[in-house]
Amino acid sequence: MADSYSYDAVMNNLSVIRENINEVCDRYRSKDTAVEIMAVTKTVPPEVVNWVYDSGLTLFGENRVQEFLSKKDVYRLDGRNPKVHIIGHLQTNKVKYIINEVEMIQSVDSVKLAQEINRLAKANNRTMDILCEVNIGGEESKSGVSAENLNELLELIAPMENIRVRGLMTIPPPTDSDIFLGRMGELFSKLRDEKRDGISMDILSMGMTHDYAEAVKYGSNLVRIGSGLFGARNYNI
Ligand SMILES: *Cc1c(COP(=O)(O)O)cnc(C)c1O
Repeated sequence: MADSYSYDAVMNNLSVIRENINEVCDRYRSKDTAVEIMAVTKTVPPEVVNWVYDSGLTLFGENRVQEFLSKKDVYRLDGRNPKVHIIGHLQTNKVKYIINEVEMIQSVDSVKLAQEINRLAKANNRTMDILCEVNIGGEESKSGVSAENLNELLELIAPMENIRVRGLMTIPPPTDSDIFLGRMGELFSKLRDEKRDGISMDILSMGMTHDYAEAVKYGSNLVRIGSGLFGARNYNI
């Protein structure tokens, strides 16, 4: 499987992405802006994902619990220790499999899911960092809390002792994505400026292969890149 991937192509993709982000930051963001790049690993063999780890990109994004569990031992070979975030829709009954395996869950969009994360985090003596996923375009096909219901969700999660809200995540609609990236940037900075109890707004996870440069322009500080790094996927998840 891994031999259909080219090491040189992946390394080249990574350096182009880094350059593009630096360029956008220079033009549109303040001088001390740091934008983290996440490697989105779905369908990519773990040996290939390790190429980017070895070149310094140590944050991985996982869509599916089962796929992640089947790959995690290879990720950790030879003393590697990637930070792993769940970025796909997470079923409540799957939280138990990942509670001690990941650094963050970016796709929290319901109180029920948050309660289960909180319960299991407590049972495992840890605090879980989360992002609230916002369905900024109000699309029926997408998960995420609506912008209208975000406040209520944040209020209910803030008191949960074993969860730390760190920010927001979104996948904007494919058309007019500029508008939605802009809206998301505004929503994020408004919440950050409010400095609410129990909530730190330091991460805006926004931008994928087709829109990461725009997303950084509008305030993203974590971009999630899959196909732009590893090449086109044979199928979609
Ligand atoms: C697949 C996926 C990405 C990356 O998408 P690309 O277009 O391949 O960069 C980012 N975020 C989420 C939630 C995804 O499912």
